[in-house]
Amino acid sequence: MSDTTDTKLESRLEEQETFEPPKSFVEQANVTDPAIRTEFEENWPECWERAAEFLSWDWEYDSVVDAADAPQYEWFTGGRLNASYNCLDRHVEDGAKNRAAIKWEGELGETRTYTYGELLNEVEAFAAALREMGVETGDAVTLYLPMVPELPVAMLACARLGAPHSVVFAGFSADALATRMRSSDSEYLVTCDGYYRRGEALNHGQKAKNGLRNVDHDVESIVVNRLGDESDSSFGDDAHDYGALVAEHEGASVPPVSRDAEDVLFLLYTSGTTGQPKGVEHATGGYLSYAAWTAHAVLDLEPTDTHWCTADIGWITGHSYVVYGPLALGATTFMYEGTPDYPDRDRFWKLIEKNRVDVFYTAPTAIRAFMKWGEEYPATHDLSSLRLLGSVGEPIDPHAWKWYYKHIGDEECPIVDTWWQTETGGTMVTTVPGIDTMKPGSAGPALPGIDARVVDADGDPVAPGNAGYLVIRKPWPGMLRTLYRNDERFRSEYWSEYSEPDEDEWIYFPEDGAKIDDDGYITVLGRVDDVINVSGHRLGTMEIESAIVDVAGVAEAAVVGADHDVKGEAVCAYVVLKNGEEPTVAMRDRIVESVEDGIGPIARPEKVVFTSELPKTRSDKIMRRLLENIANGEELGDTSTLRNPDAVETIARQVGDD
Ligand code: ATP
Ligand code: MG
Repeated sequence: MSDTTDTKLESRLEEQETFEPPKSFVEQANVTDPAIRTEFEENWPECWERAAEFLSWDWEYDSVVDAADAPQYEWFTGGRLNASYNCLDRHVEDGAKNRAAIKWEGELGETRTYTYGELLNEVEAFAAALREMGVETGDAVTLYLPMVPELPVAMLACARLGAPHSVVFAGFSADALATRMRSSDSEYLVTCDGYYRRGEALNHGQKAKNGLRNVDHDVESIVVNRLGDESDSSFGDDAHDYGALVAEHEGASVPPVSRDAEDVLFLLYTSGTTGQPKGVEHATGGYLSYAAWTAHAVLDLEPTDTHWCTADIGWITGHSYVVYGPLALGATTFMYEGTPDYPDRDRFWKLIEKNRVDVFYTAPTAIRAFMKWGEEYPATHDLSSLRLLGSVGEPIDPHAWKWYYKHIGDEECPIVDTWWQTETGGTMVTTVPGIDTMKPGSAGPALPGIDARVVDADGDPVAPGNAGYLVIRKPWPGMLRTLYRNDERFRSEYWSEYSEPDEDEWIYFPEDGAKIDDDGYITVLGRVDDVINVSGHRLGTMEIESAIVDVAGVAEAAVVGADHDVKGEAVCAYVVLKNGEEPTVAMRDRIVESVEDGIGPIARPEKVVFTSELPKTRSDKIMRRLLENIANGEELGDTSTLRNPDAVETIARQVGDD
């Protein structure tokens, strides 16, 4: 393409505000009838049987939802099922024994494929080993593993036995592991010796071992040997070897334990961007139905698809859309161990080309990194296998959305910007890709059957365009059941702001700010504490950041409120420039102008700080709390959950020097 047509295309895209789902996509989509929204609304809650139908039940449920203990709603009560049976056995019985269930690539380039038959065998062998070790139905098993196939194997083995798993993100520290094991009284740990990051072998076993020092009760450990010769044997004889256990139980038959729909499938501690981690509890029937239904309706997955969700399994996104959703539907799920820029910045595009990935689901932070690196990296690869793109984790600004749409999807793949949380189990607010018009910057309408609203502090609906709070007015199958052993915090955290307990009216509060437009499209503005109040105007950080990244040369931005005598708060912007760009006064002026033009003078950044990196949590979210501390000259406090603790210190020094 010549430079001039490229520029023309670029400016047409920049101006375009809505995008229709491409015809070629709609023709084959799983859900194409717009009447589904009214159908769900009119038949609520029976509409949720549509989700339950994606599963095979050992015993039919009596009622769809039981509100007797609201807000601890129960779903598909009386029903019985097993999650590992639903993700494995039934596909093998249906003739999919030789279809790939998991395709994996390690960072160094080695590959492994597990067919559904092979995966079932290994899950049964490992389940037999766990059972022999004493794991019983109801025992919490901690899985502290990186992105290796043994992690889904262990999850499904636990599910087979009815033992809730608690996956702890491998990037978390020894202390984080210990806190979670103590909190869940977990007496079993599955971990590994190490894994690769940017070509380097990390000593994960030592970290796990250090964590166990702070757990008082006895723990049985199983260690996966990932590093081979480079292995450090931190555990010595104190642990079982995963490989030896599986070999010993090869060929074992472990019948899936039939579980009540309401039995716990897993615990997952939230990422902890705000406050203390919460042990979110998900139930077997509701969670699995919802993961399968949303993977079908939103990710449009079919059994013939190869799906790549880049999220680590340590997060809910990985639970629902690397493991449970795709496997429940009998699709092929792709896993990659390492970073997107190893050995080079085109690793992801290489993997998509090589594995003919159909659906690709990633996070805005990754998309912003790809933009910063430049479109030449995807351009040299054949990405034509892609049919649908997804985004999750943070709001995606229109600029990044359009880049993703053009340079990865070649303007032929719809993008689903999916808003949801650990607590919701699956996606909640997003376009249905075969039906809805897409509006970059807005996640979309609530999914069929989900009653999402944007309200003011009193709980009244806000006028379209105004900022308010996102609330969910009806329960849904994928919702958390409680916080582990803390029903009280469950109620106060999510059900106290807007519910009317006396009238038995329960409204879920996700603690996110949002706006809604005339078509019911919801733009998530970020967490409630990320909203900046300038002279009484509530400004979403995402909107301002979006105006900043619109400026040519800007890669990424984070804005926070700095205390201000007159305005209450003033906007302070931290800006990362693309490679090769200079932090000049002219650049600063263009940034200020873009915010004034895009939102209004009220949002004008009082201060613009150029920096090479933004502080990110291990789940890759910008940690605005720390940037706010810096802007206000306050103590930094705890930076231990950061991926890049050095970044804050550099920024603090820069701001101090100004
Ligand atoms: P914690 O609750 O422990 O502070 P966390 O909220 O970061 O951690 P998650 O459950 O992983 O943990 O993240 C959910 C949050 O991520 C949502 O509440 C929302 O703020 C943000 N989010 C997720 N997807 C989107 C999206 N598509 N658009 C906007 N925000 C999103
Ligand atoms: Mg949260």
